[in-house]
Amino acid sequence: MLESRFWSKIKKTDSCWFWRGSMIKENYGQFSNYVGKITRSHKFIFEYFNSKIIQGNHIHHKCKNIICCNPIHLEQKTPLDHKQEHKKLYCKRGHEFTPENTIKIKNGRKCSFCSKLKEKVWKQKNALHIKKYGKQYNESHKEQRNKTQREYRNQKKMELVV
Ligand SMILES: [Zn+2]
Ligand SMILES: [Zn+2]
Ligand SMILES: [Zn+2]
Repeated sequence: MLESRFWSKIKKTDSCWFWRGSMIKENYGQFSNYVGKITRSHKFIFEYFNSKIIQGNHIHHKCKNIICCNPIHLEQKTPLDHKQEHKKLYCKRGHEFTPENTIKIKNGRKCSFCSKLKEKVWKQKNALHIKKYGKQYNESHKEQRNKTQREYRNQKKMELVV
């Protein structure tokens, strides 16, 4: 039987059950790093209400709330399925594909947060390049490529002459 002390650590709302035990603090580092990480409390509740967790399997939060332990929000998945599920839900850096954070592109979608970040980094890089060379990064890159191709062609010609 479950101890009442255990239940006193759970704050139930209409949807999610929030785990308020000390484990959250102890495991908080893990939580912030990896979305699918689970605490023993989830595992415990999952097994209590749902079914035994097969060794190696993960518990996925369907509600995306990683401290939730409402058994109907929890789902047992094999590591592979879990990985695929997260691929559907999150970008490779872990940002959720909400409608606001999703940009439709020709062959799929991309994460808005990441592309904004990429753009910012690119702008910084470009600004630095302009400062240093007086040219857009694109331009000098193209020039450099043409120069290399020209040199290569010249070299080929030389080789033919010889
Ligand atoms: Zn939940
Ligand atoms: Zn998950
Ligand atoms: Zn992202």
